[in-house]
Formats: sequence, C-alpha cells, structure tokens
Amino acid sequence: MSKARKVHVKSFGCQMNVYDSHRMADTLAPAGFTETERPEDADLVILNTCHIREKAADKVYSEIGRIRVMKEEAAAQGRRVLIAVAGCLAQAEGQEIMRRAGTVDLVVGSQNYHRLPEMVARADDGEKIVDTEFPVEDKFDALAVPARETIRQRGVAAFVTVQEGCDKFCTFCVVPYTRGAEISRPAEKIVAEVERLAAAGVREVTLIGQNVNAYHGLDANGASGSLGRLLRRLADVPGIARLRYTTSHPNDMDDDLIAAHADLPALMPYVHLPVQSGSDRVLAAMNRKHTRADYLAAIARLRAARSDLAFTSDFIVGFPGETEDDFRDTLTLVEEVGFAGAYTFAYSPRPGTPAAGLDKQVSDSEKSERLQRLQALITRLWHGFNASFAGKTLDVLLEKPGKLPGQLVGKSPYLQAVQVMAPRSLIGTVVPVVITDIGTNTLFGALAHPAGAPALVAAGAET
Ligand code: SF4
Repeated sequence: MSKARKVHVKSFGCQMNVYDSHRMADTLAPAGFTETERPEDADLVILNTCHIREKAADKVYSEIGRIRVMKEEAAAQGRRVLIAVAGCLAQAEGQEIMRRAGTVDLVVGSQNYHRLPEMVARADDGEKIVDTEFPVEDKFDALAVPARETIRQRGVAAFVTVQEGCDKFCTFCVVPYTRGAEISRPAEKIVAEVERLAAAGVREVTLIGQNVNAYHGLDANGASGSLGRLLRRLADVPGIARLRYTTSHPNDMDDDLIAAHADLPALMPYVHLPVQSGSDRVLAAMNRKHTRADYLAAIARLRAARSDLAFTSDFIVGFPGETEDDFRDTLTLVEEVGFAGAYTFAYSPRPGTPAAGLDKQVSDSEKSERLQRLQALITRLWHGFNASFAGKTLDVLLEKPGKLPGQLVGKSPYLQAVQVMAPRSLIGTVVPVVITDIGTNTLFGALAHPAGAPALVAAGAET
C-alpha cells in the first residue's frame, strides 16, 4: 500500500498545460498522491511550465524561489518536499534548470510525464532526475484514467488533448522544438475518453492541440481521419452538449471541418484562428505559409457555412522588420474581420528560434506603442461584440455557483461568462438566458423560463 501524500500542480501558459496538469495528478493517484490546492500542504510540487515567451520562463524561476522557501521550512520541521519542473520550459532547458535552481528534484519533459511515479520514487531516494527524451511509447496509453469523482470535481467543461506538436515551424515559435513533430491520437481512444467524461457529468468538451485542425488520427479501420470527422463522432456521444476546439492554423481549415460547422449544432460558433499579422511581408518572414488573402478566404468559407460564427485570433506586433505600413495592414485586417477578441503580444525573441537572430529588431518603444494601438482597437470590437447581445437570449451552459447566494456562472456559445440567478440543480444544463446587462468581462442575465421550464440539455444522464 502506497503512503498517502499530497501533490500540488501549478499550470502556466495554455490550456494544454491545464489538461496535462490534470493527467499528471491522475497518474500519481495510484502511487498514493491526492491533489491539494495549497502548495504549502504538498509533499510534491509540480510546476507545469510554459516557454512561449521570455516572461513565462522568468515567472517559473521566481515561483521556484518561493517554493524553495516552503521546502526549507518543511525540511526544518522534518518533512521532505520534492519540487518537479514539467512542461515546455523543462523540455527546452532540461539540465539548465538544475544548474540555475539546485533545489529542483526532477525535470520532466512534456512527452514523459506518464513516468512520474517511477521518477518520484527515484527522487525519494535522493536522485536528481532530468527526463526530456522524446519516448517511443505513447504517453497517453500509459496515463492513468481519472476516477469518476475526480472528473466530477473538475466541473462540467473539460479539455481533451487530441494532437500534440507542430510541423509548421513559424520562425518565432518554440513549439516544434519543445513539443516535437505533430502527432495525433487515435480516434477510438479520444471517443472513449469523451464517453468517460460524459458519463461522469461533463457536458462541454474542448479538443486541444498546438495545431488542432492538423488532426489526422487513425480511425478503427486504420484510416487517417480529420478533425471534422472526429467532431461528428463526438457530437453523437450521449450527454455531450457542446464541442469546441483550439488552436487552429488557417491552412488546416479543410472542407471536413468547415462542413462540421455547418452541420453540427453542438459545435459552438466560436473559432480561435491565429493570424499573427495582417502584412504579407511579415507573414512570409514568420514562415506562416499563408497570406492575408488566404486567411480572409478561410474566414469567408467558415462564415458561408455558419453565419453566426465569431472569430478571435492571436497577434504579434513588432516582429523583426515590421514597418508602420506592415502594422497598419494588421489594423485593417482586424477591422475587416471584426474579431470578437484577440490575444495580443509584443514580439520577444525566443532563444533557438530563427526569428531571434533576425536583423532589424523593432525597438521596445515602437513595439509597446503599436501594441497599445492594436489593443485599443480590439477592446473596442470586443466591447461592441458583447454589447450586441443586450436584450437577446443566449444559450448558457451553467457551470458552477457564482459569488452571490443563489447565483450561477456559465458560458455562452461565444465563451462569454454569464451570471444568472438560478437554482444549483441547473448546474450542468444548457438554458436560455435573456441578457439584461453587459459588464466588462461578464454578461448578466435572467433565466428565460424561470420556473420549471425544461432545460435544452438535461443535467445528469449518469450511467
Ligand atoms: S503553427 Fe502555431 S504551434 Fe506551430 S510553429 Fe506556428 S505558432 Fe508554433
């Protein structure tokens, strides 16, 4: 019988890391670890890191400093605490982490965390471990399945990784180096995972991958699939009311996926489609392999399939060589598409990427001035998008209690947080909500059918 211990997993960066963090905790459960929200109670602290920007790495090192203090205080009381660094920074820096932060006990790359129980056992014996090889075995096969109660506690919306890695090699991006070549999970395994989640009460599944619409996992007959076909299968899983996917590349918006948007009511009308820049010159320097016109054509095809689609995107301003004219092309693209929101970043060089060595780096002051202009435009569009729902009815998946007594918080089809007064029994149901007020980050509403009206999707459906 394993000794009962506690693990705290802190996620940095993207949703893939949130998913991986859950799977790390699941994998450690058979070794006697239960999850804790409080790092000070933990016997093992895992920092699941991001390496997409310089600041992300700095944050991790300062977090290691804070945990080291806790580790020393625990040691003074005779309690041993292990510190693990996992994820993309671990993959990229490996041994360097041990050199910079000697308090760390193990460094585990993004493809190796299924081996955590064995690594922890070795670290218990005092070994310092760095495991960042890309293994031959499929980590998803080796991961423990979470208990139904664990799934339930995590809520009615879940992420499922369907592919990892990327073959696109955008010149600013570390993903092809930290996550490796693109691989897709077999469709049957994804369907089984989603069925398990649905049986435990999950109603919304977001399929995630660094380049999710490049998905090409094998089906039961050994044929290569597509994201569109996978979504069709998942839409048939009993209990699943909503499907989403992120993050996509414009070149992989194929006919199957576009048809899925036209045909599947469960596929939410909200697409995150990074473009990074509106200038063809900059797109070429980024090695995005598409032009502004290609991007706009992909948006037009999607809108033709489903007219109520809303789009968000990612932008990098101040990429090396970006001129004021290039930047204006980005602003006009944003206006032309009419994005409902976007993540915006000033370019920061990532060591080891081709763009880091390019001439004509844009000055920090120009980057920050352009970033502010872009953010002002996107904020205006985002607020306008939210305001357009005033007085309208939106279907809301109610997810959890709100801050006020009697209040629930849910999500609209467009991922807007919606607060509504409603009984707790409605958690896990999709209900029509009349939007009465628009906040900065939240919509406020009232149940369209306050008493006894049937929800669009019933809660429960337990098996
Ligand atoms: S497509 Fe996305 S993940 Fe792949 S290299 Fe480009 S930015 Fe990175």
